[in-house]
Amino acid sequence: MAQIGRKILVLSGKGGVGKSTVAANLAVALARSGRKVGLLDVDLHGPSLPTLLGLVGHRPETDAAGDLAPVTAAGNLAVMSVGLLLGSASDPVIWRGPMKYNVIRQLLTDVAWGPLDDLVIDAPPGTGDEPLSVAQLVGPNAWAVLVTTPQRVAVADVRRSVSFCRTLDLPVAGIVENMSGLVCPHCGGTTDLFSTGGGERLAEEVGVPFLGRIPLDGRIAASGDAGRPFMLDACGPSAEAFARVADALTRSMEGRGAPRTQDTRPEEPTPMKIAIPVAAGRLSMHFGHCEQFALVDVDRANRSVTAVSYVTPPPHEPGVLPRWLAEQGAALIIAGGMGQRAQGLFAASGIDVVAGAPAETPEALATAYLEGTLASGENVCDH
Ligand code: ADP
Repeated sequence: MAQIGRKILVLSGKGGVGKSTVAANLAVALARSGRKVGLLDVDLHGPSLPTLLGLVGHRPETDAAGDLAPVTAAGNLAVMSVGLLLGSASDPVIWRGPMKYNVIRQLLTDVAWGPLDDLVIDAPPGTGDEPLSVAQLVGPNAWAVLVTTPQRVAVADVRRSVSFCRTLDLPVAGIVENMSGLVCPHCGGTTDLFSTGGGERLAEEVGVPFLGRIPLDGRIAASGDAGRPFMLDACGPSAEAFARVADALTRSMEGRGAPRTQDTRPEEPTPMKIAIPVAAGRLSMHFGHCEQFALVDVDRANRSVTAVSYVTPPPHEPGVLPRWLAEQGAALIIAGGMGQRAQGLFAASGIDVVAGAPAETPEALATAYLEGTLASGENVCDH
C-alpha cells in the first residue's frame, strides 16, 4: 500500500445505485489518461467487477512471497476482486464477522500491486461493519467518492455516508449522481425519469464537491453485462459525462490538497470466541465425543482471555457441531484431531480450525493462540 499514490474509496449508501459501474468506469477513465491504476473489489456480498470487466473464471496467481498478483484487465489497469477468489458467481458467501474482516484485510494488504498512481476501491455498500473495516484499513492518502441516484429517497443515505466519512476522517472528494436522466436509445435525447438534482443539492448542503451526473444509458448496462467497461470504447454524451466526472475528481483531490493523513488502521478486531472440546478440564482429543465445549472469550488486541464458559454439546451426529458452535458465536475451534471432512464443515459454517493442539486447559490454549505460540502437533485424528 505504501507504493500507491492515491486511494479512492467508492462508497454508496445502499446497493444497486451503480457504485461498481462507476468505480470500474472511473478506473478505466483514469487509466486512459495515462495513469497506472489498480481496481480493487471488496464488496463481499456482490463482487461484480469480474462480470463487469469480463474476468469471470480468471484465477489470480500468488507470487513467491505468497501475495496475490492482480489480473491485468486492459493496458495499465490491474484488477483484484473477492469474486476472483470465490469458486463460482453463484456460491453463497456466508462468512462470520471476523472472517469477513480477515478477507477485507487480506485484500487490502496482501495484493502485490507494485507502484500505482491510483487505487480505486469498490467498497461494500452502506455504513455498516464491512465498509467501516475497509475505510479503516485503507490507511492514509485516501479519499471517498459517494455514488447516489437522483431521487429524494437516496439523499438520506448519502447524508449518512457523509457523516460516516467524517467520523473516520476520510475526506469526501465528491458526490456522483448516477442514473441521472434517461438517454433515449432512439433519438439520443435525455429525459428526467426521477426527480433531479438531489445529489447536487445535498453536496451543497453538506459542503462537499459535486462531481457530476451520469445518465441512465442502456449502453452502460449492456457493456457491463458484456464484460467490457463502457469507458473502454468511450464515445457519446454518457462517455463524456464519465470523463467529466473523472476530471472533476482529479481536480477535487488536487484542489482539496489534504487526503486523510493519519493511519487509521486498527489493531485486530478485539472480541472473539474460541471453542475448545474438553474432557476433565483439558482439551479432549476427540471433539465429536467430548463431554463439554469450553467457550473462551478473548480480546485479540490485548491478547487476553476475558471469560470462559462451558456448554454441553448436542448428541453427536455429522454436521451438527459446526452448526451448533456457529450458533454459540464461535469463530475458531482449537482441536486435538479433526478429519478433513469435519474441517470442511466447520469452514462452511464460518469457523476456522486449528488442529493438532496439545491436551492443555482452555485458558492456556487460547492464550497460546493469541500469542502465536500454540504448538500445533500432529493431527491425531483423521476420520
Ligand atoms: P451497485 O454496485 O451499486 O450495486 P452496479 O454497478 O452493480 O450497482 O449497477 C447495478 C445495475 O445497474 C447494473 O446492471 C448496471 O449495469 C446498471 N447501471 C449502473 N449504472 C448505470 C447507468 N448509468 N446506466 C445504465 N445502467 C446502469
